[in-house]
Parts: sequence; structure tokens; C-alpha cells
Amino acid sequence: MIESDLPGSTIIKPINETKPGVHYPYATAADFFENLPVAFYTCNRQGYITSYNHAAVKLWGREPALGKDMWCGSWKIFNPDGTELPLDTCPMARTLKEGVSIEGEEIIVQQPDGTRRNVLAYPAPIFDETGSISGATNTLIDITEQKKSEEKQAMLAAIVASSDDAIISKKLDGVITSWNKAAERLFGYTEQEILGKHITILIPLLRRQEEQLIIDKVRNNQSFDHFETVRVTKTGEEIPISLTVSPIHDSKGQIIGASKIVRDISRQKSSENRLRQYAENLEILNSVGKAIAEDLDIQSILQKVTNATTQLTNAAFGAFFHNVTNEHGQFYQLYTLSGAPKEAFDKFGMPRNTAVFHPTFTGQGVVRVDDITKDPRYGKNPPHFGMPEGHLSVVSYLAVPVTSKSGSVLGGLFFGHPEPGIFTADHEQLISAIAVQTAVALDNAKLYEEIKLLNAKKDEFIGLASHELKTPVTSISGYLQIIEQSFTNEDRNKIFISKARSQVNKLAALISDLLDVSKIQTGKLPLTFSTFDLAGLLKEVTEIMQQINPLHQITLNSDAGNLTVEADYQRIEQVLINLISNAVKYSPDADRVIVNACKAGDKIRVSIQDFGIGIEPEQQERIFSRFYRVENLAAHMSGLGIGLYISQEIVKRHHGKLWVKSAAGKGSTFLFEIPVMQVGRLVD
Ligand code: ADP
Repeated sequence: MIESDLPGSTIIKPINETKPGVHYPYATAADFFENLPVAFYTCNRQGYITSYNHAAVKLWGREPALGKDMWCGSWKIFNPDGTELPLDTCPMARTLKEGVSIEGEEIIVQQPDGTRRNVLAYPAPIFDETGSISGATNTLIDITEQKKSEEKQAMLAAIVASSDDAIISKKLDGVITSWNKAAERLFGYTEQEILGKHITILIPLLRRQEEQLIIDKVRNNQSFDHFETVRVTKTGEEIPISLTVSPIHDSKGQIIGASKIVRDISRQKSSENRLRQYAENLEILNSVGKAIAEDLDIQSILQKVTNATTQLTNAAFGAFFHNVTNEHGQFYQLYTLSGAPKEAFDKFGMPRNTAVFHPTFTGQGVVRVDDITKDPRYGKNPPHFGMPEGHLSVVSYLAVPVTSKSGSVLGGLFFGHPEPGIFTADHEQLISAIAVQTAVALDNAKLYEEIKLLNAKKDEFIGLASHELKTPVTSISGYLQIIEQSFTNEDRNKIFISKARSQVNKLAALISDLLDVSKIQTGKLPLTFSTFDLAGLLKEVTEIMQQINPLHQITLNSDAGNLTVEADYQRIEQVLINLISNAVKYSPDADRVIVNACKAGDKIRVSIQDFGIGIEPEQQERIFSRFYRVENLAAHMSGLGIGLYISQEIVKRHHGKLWVKSAAGKGSTFLFEIPVMQVGRLVD
């Protein structure tokens, strides 16, 4: 570096321009400035830069032109607030103009590439022997890094202060060293109160061992995230929190403490709980809905509803009072209880249509009371005037009417609890929803009861009618037989009598079938077991059926030999006739029926195969039901739809089974299997 006319050049001498042979006594001082880690330069009286060191060049990002650049080696300088500072008003310029030193004024210098550096300027005037200013020195201290870290610190401090999460730091011995506003809000302690206190002040007694675990982790340089636990506030309230802990290191990397971020998760927890509760309620609602929709028994529906709703409302007990009118038009109440023995209610009798319960009994609306004993209408009714002694104490009370679609009040759901304020608006809503479902289920059950009653009446009628018809038809058949016998074969009218007798016999068979249905319904179809050869019976039946149905060829493929079986001869014959008649009847366009019989282990299996209209898969189960007939194809073929029902009952009563394999349009095979020996017969 250089000097030109720098006053006081006794101190600073040219550094680079050394001439061989010339002795430079101050080279050491010049070296000193050149190598100084802070920027240093000088200006002459006019402000031209006269010398500068290496650090100054680094700071300015350029080498100044001596005798040309004035005041500062940087072309552009700024005030700390970012406004541009004209070079001739920079601290060096002011020192030269005013002759005063400036102690560390902050400015920003800009390098040619735009990089800005924060510096503190320390310009000082130099005076000559006469005391007038001959120039000035300036020391520039680069504080950019310090500024940055200060800004970072300030930013961090602002983040910590404004955080919604409590941010706390503590030393390894557990002493709290910092405490932000959110911590103050969450725990209730001010910073002043808590600094220096031990962290365990925030930990519930039963969780104190957690602190040791946390500290152990921190010592091992481990951090952990979102650990859910509970902490205690200044008022002693326990709050659910999520904790994130990280070790704090000093500048040498030593662990000196821990920082904790504490998040209040009470709202999250309570919404989690609400959600869980909601899901649980939904599950109960669904299961109740499903259970009662499938149920047709009134008492069982009431019990299911009472149990579920009592559980849903957290009631001490729940009851369902169902208004019933019996067949004589008498009104009574059926009730189910949950959560209390029936005796507990006996003393109380039923809740009656008193002023308090009136809206429920009349179906007007829900009654929900936090403390029923405080209701002015309560306790005004005889005989108990309130709760009778020894009765379950009821303070919280909820009653929801159950109203049928037709508008009639079917009854009501009543809940009680000995503590006040138990039932909420949510409960009210839930129970009201269940009450609607219950009303539908009860309506259905009622309808079902009515249908059952009608059905029973119909069965009774069929039984009675067939019984009444049987006697005259049997007599007619008998008389016709006598008349038939009185005719000679040549008599022209004999054929009519014979036809009449055949029709009457058909009628008798139908009546007999109807009677069988009625016997099955009442469980009175008697079986008379004997041991006989089924092969013989099959032969006999196929021959008769062949005679009656000459247009079909009925083939019997028996295992030959003996098929001894213990069964009711006539009933098995009835089954065979039924199945072969059907095979013929439902194969109008085919002419073959194949009967097979064989022994299968300790059972005998018989099959009747036809090649007729067949049965659709979805009909194959139903055709065994009472009075069921496949509508489309079989509709024009006569029948009552009871042959298969009776046949299946007969086979079942033999501990066997009857089933069908069929393909629509291709024909059907009806099969039945009965055991050779009736082991369980004695029990029958
Ligand atoms: P019915 O023949 O008097 O109608 P069944 O109880 O014997 O009463 O049969 C019930 C129904 O099953 C019949 O209406 C018919 O639709 C069907 N069915 C029975 N047997 C056959 C068969 N072999 N082929 C096709 N459909 C049959």
C-alpha cells in the first residue's frame, strides 16, 4: 500500500513500495496496520484516501484509487435504516470537516457486487504541529455477523414469545431457566414466579418418575416428539399435553439443559373423546336399530331398547312404558327395566300422567330436567307426593315419548339418575332417534302379531272346514260305490257314476291333504311305523301311477333285492304318489319319469326324475312352503301347493330329508332319504 502526502507519515509508511537499499525504520508499524484484522485507512485534509490496509480492501470489496476516491473506499454507503448516505456526509467526511473523532457510528457499506456489510466507523482527526487538521484515520469494524446473529436472536425471541405452544427451558438439574407467554397462559405461573423453580412443580405426583426418564434421554443427547402426558397447572388442574423435548448445547457442544415445547391437547383430547363417543353411540344406534328391526316380539324389543338407551344415557336406570290395549279393549302398561330390579319400581308403581310427565304421556315432547325435585309441579300428586320412601332416588330425569306413525302414543322411555344434570341435549337427540326406530319396530311387531292371529284363524278354519267336508265326501263316495255296484256292466249310466266317484275321490284326497296340513300345523300328524320292503311299495306305486298316467312311461330302477325299512307305510306311499304325480303333472311335454331307489349306508335314497318344466334356482327352496306354487309356468296346472310341504314334513318326521335338483326347462329330480331304522322313534 501507499502513502502520498499523508500528514503524520511518521507513523504509516508505504508498505509495498520498498526501494532496495533504503532503510525503512517504521516498516514494523506499517506491517502492523497492513496485517491488522480490522479495516483501517487514512485520508488527507481534502478527504482523498491516502492509505488503506488489506482488511479495508476486503471490506470494501475493491481497491480504492488513490488521489481519486474520497472519504471512503466504498462507492455506496447507507445509514442503518437503509437510506443512502452521501459520501461527503459519511463519518470520515464529518471528522475531517469538523475536526472531531466519532466513536463507532454504524453505517452500511456496499461492495461492487452489491454485498452489504454492517460496520462501525471510528474516524479520528490528525493534527499537524500547528494544530490544524492535516488528515484523519478511520477504523472500520465489521459487525455484519454480529448483527445477523442479533437479528436471529431477536427473531427467535419473538417466535418464542408469540408461540401458541408453551416453550420452556431448564437446566440438567431440572431448574427452569426460561418461560414464554404461552407457558404463562397454560400453567398460570408468571415468568417471575417460575424462573429458578424445579420443573417437577408442573408434574403430577403420580407422574414424577417421567422427569427422570426425560432427563436421562436429554443427557444421552436424545430428543423426543409429541409425548402425550399430563401436567398440572398452578390451580392444580391436570391438563393433557403433548411434549417435545430436545437437549440444549453450549457453544462447545456440551449438553447444558433441555428445551420443552408443551402443547395443550385438551381440546384435541376432548374432540377425540367426543368423536369416540359419537362413534360408540352410532354403533349402539345401529345395533339397536338392527336388533329391533329384526325382532318381532314386543317384549324383547322393549327390553333391547331399554338396555341400549340406559347405557347410552349413562342413566342409573331406564324404563320403557308401553301402552297396550288388550283384545277386550282394556288399557294396561307393559314395562321393561334396565339398571334396576323390578322390585325397585314396584314401590313406585308406574309413572302416571301427572303434570311433570304429561308431555311424554301425551306424546307432546321430551322432558329433560336437571333436578326434578326442584320442579314446582313435582311432589304434588297423591299417594306418594314425590318419590316414595325406599324408591330409587331420581334427581336427573329424561323422558321421551314413543309415538307411532299413526300419531298414537305407544309409550315412553324414562331415565333417572340420583345426581343432578346427568342428561344432555345429545342424549335427548339420541333417544329421540331411537324412539322413532322403536315406534316403527313396535308398529311392525303389532302388525306381525295381527298377521299371526289372522294366520292362526285361517289355519283353524282350514282344519275345521276340511274336517267338516271329509265326512259328507266320504259318505258320498260310499253311496256312489254302492250305486255303481248296483249297475250292470251293460248299463249306460254306470260310466257316469264311475266318473262321479273318481271326482269325489279326488275331492277326498284334497280334503285329506288339507287336513294333513292342519295336523302338521298343530303338531298332530300321527305316524304309524312298521317294517316293510320299500322296493315292494315302490313297485306297487309305480304300477298304479303308470295305470293312471298312461301317456308317461314311469320306470322303476331299483337296486332290486330287499329294501327293508322301518317307516310309516301309508305316509311314505303318500310321499311317492305326491312326487310321481308332480313329475307327471309338471312335464306335459315329456313322457318319461324315472324312479330310482338304492341303499346308501344306513339310509335308503329314492329319487324321482322328470324331464319337464324344471324349477328356477331361486324357487327351489320356496316350493316346500305351505301353499307355495311357482306362479308363471305351473299356474295353469291344478294344485294347492301343499303336496311338497306335506311330503317334506313326513320325511322330516322319519328323520330324513327331501330336496330337489333342477334346471329350468330341463326337468327336476326330487330326492329323499330316510334311515333304515328309526333309532329315535321311541322318543317321538
Ligand atoms: P302343487 O303341485 O299342488 O302346486 P306341490 O307342493 O306339490 O303343490 O308343489 C309346489 C310347487 O312346486 C308346484 O306348484 C310347482 O310349481 C313346483 N313343482 C313341484 N314339483 C315339480 C316338478 N316335478 N317340476 C316342476 N315344478 C314342480
